[in-house]
Amino acid sequence: MDAFSERVLERVDPVLAGILRDAESLSPVPFRVVAGHRGLREQNALFAAGLSVHRFPQSPHNKLPSRAVDIEPLTDPSDLADRAAVVQAIQMAAAEAGVLIFWRGESSPHLELI
Ligand SMILES: [Zn+2]
Repeated sequence: MDAFSERVLERVDPVLAGILRDAESLSPVPFRVVAGHRGLREQNALFAAGLSVHRFPQSPHNKLPSRAVDIEPLTDPSDLADRAAVVQAIQMAAAEAGVLIFWRGESSPHLELI
């Protein structure tokens, strides 16, 4: 994981953080963790901009440590096939850990512990 991702993971649930670190070696595409915990101001700004469906503290990003992360492929953040390959690796790592992770679908960067 790059330094940015590791800084984000400091405030992410340790089980989820461990899965993401395990996924790094399983993923055919390098990736970064772009978001983890969000406080009140950041969450409500995203809600106001239409970029989140939740006001603080309803998002799993608002728990401390966070129960959700947003990821993006380092190849091309908008490449849906690369994003899906990263998510598949994360799902594999989660299955190995016996943990279920929810993903909204191909255009979403968002993953959360169930
Ligand atoms: Zn998210």
